[in-house]
Amino acid sequence: FWYFCLKHFKQELNGQQFNTWIKPLKLEICPDVENTLVLIAPNRFVLQWIKDNFVNRIDEMAQGHFNEKIHFKLELKDPAEIKTATIKAPEPKSKEDKKPPTDKAHGTTARKTNPSRLNPAFTFDAFVTGKANQLARAGAIQVAERPGIAYNPLFIYGGVGLGKTHLMHAVGNYVMELDAGAKIRYVHAEKYVSDVVSAYQHKSFDKFKLYYHSLDLLLVDDVQFFSGKNRTQEEFFYAFNALIEAHKQVIITSDCYPKEISGLEERLVSRFGWGLTVAIEPPELEMRVAILLKKAFIEKIELDESTAFFIAKYIRSNVRELEGALKRVLAYSRFTGHPISLDLAKEALKDLLAIQNRQISIENIQKTVADYYKIKVADMYSKKRVRAIARPRQVAMAIAKELTQLSLPDIGEAFGGRDHTTVLHAHRKIVELRASDPGINRDYSTLIHILRG
Ligand code: ADP
Ligand code: MG
Repeated sequence: FWYFCLKHFKQELNGQQFNTWIKPLKLEICPDVENTLVLIAPNRFVLQWIKDNFVNRIDEMAQGHFNEKIHFKLELKDPAEIKTATIKAPEPKSKEDKKPPTDKAHGTTARKTNPSRLNPAFTFDAFVTGKANQLARAGAIQVAERPGIAYNPLFIYGGVGLGKTHLMHAVGNYVMELDAGAKIRYVHAEKYVSDVVSAYQHKSFDKFKLYYHSLDLLLVDDVQFFSGKNRTQEEFFYAFNALIEAHKQVIITSDCYPKEISGLEERLVSRFGWGLTVAIEPPELEMRVAILLKKAFIEKIELDESTAFFIAKYIRSNVRELEGALKRVLAYSRFTGHPISLDLAKEALKDLLAIQNRQISIENIQKTVADYYKIKVADMYSKKRVRAIARPRQVAMAIAKELTQLSLPDIGEAFGGRDHTTVLHAHRKIVELRASDPGINRDYSTLIHILRG
């Protein structure tokens, strides 16, 4: 796998970049955590750079490469200054340690005890509002002001990196600010699953229930990970009922609408719709600029508006990538010793932009998918319905929905004048198949990698 990554990055980066950032890395299997690989960096600078720019890519490649979910840790070579940073959400910091939430909140500090697991940096103040998220934010504020009363549960859904986790933490932080004694718990769905597993192993469901059923505010992130996990869903069903009945607030996020989560029990699907269900959409240009300026302000980075516009114009997919781009520009500025400017940003983001430019054309997607499945490009627009053609076409439509900014009708149009519902259906079908059919899942991931360069 590592060889595969090296080969990939060697093609993508220029020689100097490859030698500076990628070559000195080592990949090892984590001895004490299952399905976990450790990336070992020679120094803090490389560690930070990898964390900001490459970890997500390596993670993605791993998901395409292995059939199981692989976790990554980043570690420094020198054990004297061991600092671990997981890839996932920034490590929450304890409120007790009084330091202001600086950039350390982004993860390189070791975990301290913090029963709520809230990240103090994810507040309403730090959350930029725009059309894309104003409903979600308004719902979240109401819930924060009147937990258990306004809407229960609050269900927030939307694509990756759009601020779901941030918003749910914001509610938690707000509630905690008003009532320091509130029992709040943020839990990622995967962690909840593993808590259920360990309660099972240790026959400690009583303790498990006692804990989860007595919370004032429960935040469950990325609930799509409950898919197909029946015992977890059953336990969660009890916890959910107990909390709602006691007028305790529940907030849930997911990458899609409750009904679209495959492998989720009907009774949960219907309960998730009891309160308020709100979407977060990808931010438009002005909002992306505002987010960059806000991040720059928070992190005390000098960023002028034209540079912010430049970054925002090209990084369109989600806020996380936007932040990644900003960090990349910052790292480049520190590395070269030049202040951030439009030219510096252009230079720093050169490779990234090349990738983005390549990925947006729908023709490219159609051609790549057709080549991959060895069918004719013309079959992407044809009316043929045999599976050997219809399935690749659906894959291409799903990828077009994911990788381009085109609307559903536009995508339908590009596929021989099909209706937008056909595109939606294709996308859902592929999401479903990716969960149930490892072959399709692998095809899909591979295609995404090819298209992203
Ligand atoms: P999701 O959970 O939807 O995948 P996150 O909440 O983890 O996304 O957001 C990814 C990053 O983008 C976080 O660092 C978050 O602070 C930032 N972010 C997302 N939306 C906004 C916003 N509207 N304003 C400011 N920062 C945002
Ligand atoms: Mg999230």
